[in-house]
Amino acid sequence: MPELPEVETIRRTLASRIAGRTIQTVEVYEPRLVQDMPAGSRTLPRDECRERPEGRDEGGGLSRGGDENGWPRGDREGYESLSGAEHDHDRQSEDPDEGGRSPQNEDVARVWSEHLTRVLAGKRLAEPGRRGKYLLLPVEGGPWQLVVHLRMTGQLLVLSESEWVQKPSHRSLLIRLDQGLVCGLFDVRKFARLYLVRAGDPDSYPAGLRRLGPEPMEPEWTLAGWRRALAGRRTPIKSLLLNQEVVAGVGNIYADEALWRARVHPAWPAGMLNPQQAQAVRRAVRRVLREGLAAGGTTIRDYVAADGSQGDYAAQLHVYGRTGQPCSRCGTPIACIQLAGRSAHFCPRCQPAAWDTAGGAMEAAAGAEVASPEDASPEDGKADRMPADGMTEVAGWR
Ligand SMILES: [Zn+2]
Repeated sequence: MPELPEVETIRRTLASRIAGRTIQTVEVYEPRLVQDMPAGSRTLPRDECRERPEGRDEGGGLSRGGDENGWPRGDREGYESLSGAEHDHDRQSEDPDEGGRSPQNEDVARVWSEHLTRVLAGKRLAEPGRRGKYLLLPVEGGPWQLVVHLRMTGQLLVLSESEWVQKPSHRSLLIRLDQGLVCGLFDVRKFARLYLVRAGDPDSYPAGLRRLGPEPMEPEWTLAGWRRALAGRRTPIKSLLLNQEVVAGVGNIYADEALWRARVHPAWPAGMLNPQQAQAVRRAVRRVLREGLAAGGTTIRDYVAADGSQGDYAAQLHVYGRTGQPCSRCGTPIACIQLAGRSAHFCPRCQPAAWDTAGGAMEAAAGAEVASPEDASPEDGKADRMPADGMTEVAGWR
């Protein structure tokens, strides 16, 4: 999944290509793309509603799923039947591109295409923005803003018309621009989401965007705020880092890498981190995000920037996806465990579980990146032990 460095790289590569371009049409190919559109996006005046295609009575299509204006609902309820059919299809087929081509879905896609085109045609795209893993595509003069979340496998590419024609697979969305350019969203697994919101109006935002925590690269992510977020939490630190309401934009790759750098076991209860560890994790998160961004992101499989280029950070990964390979710091084979359904990669020696090895492990885990420069070796660190009562609590947690 694209995380902060990848989405920011996409934003930057988009900016020079689409800012100032005028939108001609918006074409939705994949109805699932818009299924979570929040209520604030549906702002057509009532008299326009009659122009829209009538919903289908059979099969739980548009009419049953529509709101009081006959407009497709943005919530789960309205799309239940459509989504269910698609999930069934996914189970049967290894090629999701074959899915979602029912007449109902094509109607949904057409209705959204017409709506988005009506709202956005003739408007110039402003400088793209980013918040967490959300890509923001505002138009000049407002108030509209397209919000894209690429989820697992979404790719947003700026192409020429002829390049677009040569890329027929996995199309989810097309924004046709002036000067023969198109901005196309492609998604093999169809988890990407599109929202039309009013900039500056949180009520029109999807809940995930509205609730985002601080941006980790910005001053707003303060040490005091981070410590408050950790305090009293029994959630594994890895899971807390993935919680977008705690800190925005960190995903599986950079969370694993940051915890390795900070020498903190991913399952360590967040509230059990001592102040030095808390600071080390925060510093490590910033460092890996900064490095990831400098490398243009991490391409494992699907991620590419808006110009089609891959990210180079995969070559610098120390733990993510390296299960069984030697730790670059100590040679111990990298381990992988499951935490809340997500894999967590770590070095069992550099990131010991405190409750297995008591005080010595805590000393190691408190780590070098605390009191010494970030590049210092672990032996340079003057680790502070957790207070005795903290150790008792860790033992109790186990
Ligand atoms: Zn190690």
